[in-house]
Amino acid sequence: MRCRRQRPPLPLLAYLCGMNPKKVRVRFAPSPTGGLHLGGVRTVLYNYLFARQHGGDFILRIEDTDQTRFVHGAEQYIMDCLRWCGLQPDESPEAGGPVGPYRQSERKAIYRQYAEQLVVYGYAYYAFDTSAELEDMRDRHRTESNPSPQYDSRVRMSMCNSLTLTSEEVAKRLADGIPHVIRIRMPEDETIEFEDMIRGSVQFQTGTVDDKVLLKADGMPTYHLAVVVDDYLMGITHAFRGEEWLPSAPVHLLLWKYLGWVAQMPQWAHLPLILKPDGHGKLSKRDGDRLGFPVFAMNWKDPKSDELTRGFREMGFMPEAVVNLHALLGWNDGSGREIMSIDELCSGFSMDRIHKGGAKFDFEKAKWFNQEWIKRSETERLLPDVAACLEAAGIQANIDILKQVIPMVKERCTLMTDFVEQTGYFFKAPVQWDLESVRPKWTPEKQAWFTQWASGLISLPAWDTPTIEADFKQAAAAGGIKPGELQLPLRVMLVGGKFGPPVFEIAAMIGQEETTSRIRRMLSALNSTD
Ligand code: GLU
Repeated sequence: MRCRRQRPPLPLLAYLCGMNPKKVRVRFAPSPTGGLHLGGVRTVLYNYLFARQHGGDFILRIEDTDQTRFVHGAEQYIMDCLRWCGLQPDESPEAGGPVGPYRQSERKAIYRQYAEQLVVYGYAYYAFDTSAELEDMRDRHRTESNPSPQYDSRVRMSMCNSLTLTSEEVAKRLADGIPHVIRIRMPEDETIEFEDMIRGSVQFQTGTVDDKVLLKADGMPTYHLAVVVDDYLMGITHAFRGEEWLPSAPVHLLLWKYLGWVAQMPQWAHLPLILKPDGHGKLSKRDGDRLGFPVFAMNWKDPKSDELTRGFREMGFMPEAVVNLHALLGWNDGSGREIMSIDELCSGFSMDRIHKGGAKFDFEKAKWFNQEWIKRSETERLLPDVAACLEAAGIQANIDILKQVIPMVKERCTLMTDFVEQTGYFFKAPVQWDLESVRPKWTPEKQAWFTQWASGLISLPAWDTPTIEADFKQAAAAGGIKPGELQLPLRVMLVGGKFGPPVFEIAAMIGQEETTSRIRRMLSALNSTD
């Protein structure tokens, strides 16, 4: 991107880009620093739903100006997560778009002019303080009630900046290339107010906010400058972001005002926090590790530490369920309806039903959503994902059989990974059996009965569920054993454990030879370990 000295004002810019200046434009603006947390997924989703609902555009902008926090692979990971969730942006670094680039590091040349404009207007100033001088300032002002003094209206006039140096000195330092930053000059005692779409009127006292750096010594903008400039240049009409950004809002509001763009300022909504299951504090990655549930959309491996944090996808969640459960973390449509597809969410979503308070994350409820989605999904939808789970578990499934098996077992699956246990035995004989559930009631009579029944299976007139079941019951009656007493061992023989759909259906599906051989194998296992 080449630097343009002056950009046209927004309506003209929008016109030039072929956009309708009134069109809803929202953005998700993550910093590529790691995995995509539940809160991030929900921010993406609410942006997406709002854009779809209003026929607007959803933009992905990568906020990577803080090179010290940049993590290799995180941007690609975020894009992959959005793709998996089906929440694809209309404009992004990948897809491009009329107001790109969509990666802030590639927009570096754009920002300086705005920071300098603020200096000219007196809303910002150059600061030349070295780290030692900053440290010295903190030492001088540190008190018990103020343990980490800030660079603000109380100290700025005792520092080395363009407010305290003469204009000749400033010009010389700039000409000599002396390292400097540009800081906002926060008003000493003003009340700033804005209307948040969720919280209503929000007020701040400027005296509590420090003179934030806008442009760093390396020429990169900080988040505060870049977010305002880019929201403006990209024609953003609504900015939805996490509640943790609320303390930054006064700085952003002032920047919109000082740059003369207030009329174009987006409407803001600060989304409530997602809380730990007990409601005490923000849900963190550590809570997920500690309590055994995912907090990221997909597995994330930190390239520095190699630490792996598990994601919803790898834990066996369907993207439909992930989207659905995130939508209901702090929002509902008021009807009591919980299971909603993306289309239903698009039509039912409304910002005014988002709760102000934090939303507790309940993993059991999250699993319930997934179970419901598995139950409601067609075989064709589940098939590729189930096949992939089986393959990952080293089981090569016959797709025609898998198609018939999925509807038989899906009611028993909470997570997609449960399909491995619930369908694996259709393709691979069990290598171990839950013998402990059989042994207490095992008798020589039952051993003899199974040996005989297995050898007769080859002569059954047909190999289907009713024929196998009728023969089984008849043979049980002839042997004087209750069929119920034989059914559990038969299940363990075929499946390995006490689970699965009706046992004669399993036998019918795996075939006569396989049924016979599985019975024989467990009979010898029972014998050998006796
Ligand atoms: N880059 C910020 C983040 O990482 C975005 C905050 C905003 O949306 O304004 O979350």
